[in-house]
Amino acid sequence: MSLDLHLPSPIQEIQDELFTAKDIRVFIKRDDLIHPFVSGNKWRKLKYILLDAQSENKNHLVTFGGAWSNHLLATAWAGKAFGFKVSAFVRGEEVLPLNPILQSCQEQGMQFIFVDRTAYRNKKNLFHCFFKDDTNAYFIDEGGASPLAMQGIAEMVDEILSEQEHTFDSIFLACGTGTTLCGIALAIKNKKNVTFIEGISVLKGIDFKNNVTTYPISLLSNWKVHQEFHLNGYAKVNPIFLSWLKDFQIKHNILLDPVYTGKMMYAVFQLAEQNYFKPGSKILTIHTGGIFGQESN
Ligand SMILES: *Cc1c(COP(=O)(O)O)cnc(C)c1O
Repeated sequence: MSLDLHLPSPIQEIQDELFTAKDIRVFIKRDDLIHPFVSGNKWRKLKYILLDAQSENKNHLVTFGGAWSNHLLATAWAGKAFGFKVSAFVRGEEVLPLNPILQSCQEQGMQFIFVDRTAYRNKKNLFHCFFKDDTNAYFIDEGGASPLAMQGIAEMVDEILSEQEHTFDSIFLACGTGTTLCGIALAIKNKKNVTFIEGISVLKGIDFKNNVTTYPISLLSNWKVHQEFHLNGYAKVNPIFLSWLKDFQIKHNILLDPVYTGKMMYAVFQLAEQNYFKPGSKILTIHTGGIFGQESN
């Protein structure tokens, strides 16, 4: 009934000659170190959702994700640790053998329901069809998107602002749905802090003003999303990026994934090259996790 969580996660400086040359300092908040499987923004988003399910006396979590979803992995592990039964609708056909993420989910006792892409779109309907008679079932949206998720993300901001030594000009993070970005921007605003939040979209052609379902993000003005670093779409890569990523990992001894955090960090390096940052700037990047199954070199 417990998870061994490493909180607050540490903030470390990334020492690189590029940053020295540009007279900027770049830091990273290591939310990947929170837990090997329940890491990064996925733990932040789940915390208050799980507490809510407990307080409603539900013992069965039902959630949604693609076959490579970090959210499914986090929910499987956290769900089991908190004593929940966990079911998941997985987008697409079952492919055997299961990939490492789904295999790990299964080892934690997660039950899968594979559904095609069309059916997957209507999540409330799927939940109703399969679990309307299960009074213990508790709906958790894809990626943990929920107003309760924002509360967990606000705790990350508390940790950042309680850092006495540094105040940051900007915070960079990878954006999928944009829920984490929105949660950070909202918490920063509520704290009357002036740090600017900069997302790196890992998807092509997403308008984040309309993509965040949990809060009207357009009410906030302390954020922007860069659209030019997705490398042509979700999980798309190219050889230059992959070789940069390998070099980064060897040089800085920090594992990043090619889908989210790798693209975010690549963007920060490119922006630094382009003199995007004012000399003297302090930039905080967020390691949102997602490194399960990544090879260390
Ligand atoms: C899910 C995920 C994200 C995207 O988070 P959103 O709140 O959907 O924008 C970013 N990084 C990692 C590692 C993730 O697993």
